[in-house]
Amino acid sequence: MSQRRKTDLRSYYTRVAKRAGHRCEYCHAPESFFPHRLSLDHFVPESAGGPTALANLVLCCYGRQFQKLAFESGLDPTTKTIRPLFHPRRQRWNRHFRWSEDRLHLEGLTRIGRATIERLALNNQRQIEARSRWKLHPDLFP
Ligand SMILES: [Zn+2]
Repeated sequence: MSQRRKTDLRSYYTRVAKRAGHRCEYCHAPESFFPHRLSLDHFVPESAGGPTALANLVLCCYGRQFQKLAFESGLDPTTKTIRPLFHPRRQRWNRHFRWSEDRLHLEGLTRIGRATIERLALNNQRQIEARSRWKLHPDLFP
């Protein structure tokens, strides 16, 4: 990424983070639990023509090097079908996800929810370990 692109992205940070309530828009991890800012990601990847614009930027807890990359879809493990990923701007989180009773796992309520959990590895071991600590702060998480 060029220096200009980094600067462009940085200029959106405050607005995207405020809009997201300073939480990951996929797993709701609060930014205050991290020693760094959360990441901005393009929902529609730049490689697919997604613009660097408020409407296409998502606040997320994974770095660019992780799961989403240029994907816009994932495999729903229940129906074995490819589904689009959850879109935080256009869809309601509560319709597609819920927390397990122990609040450690995200559960997909829909094909989109399950495909998103699978693609973004939202229940990976590190996240589950982190959630076990975060849930000691029910005022902050989830
Ligand atoms: Zn997250």
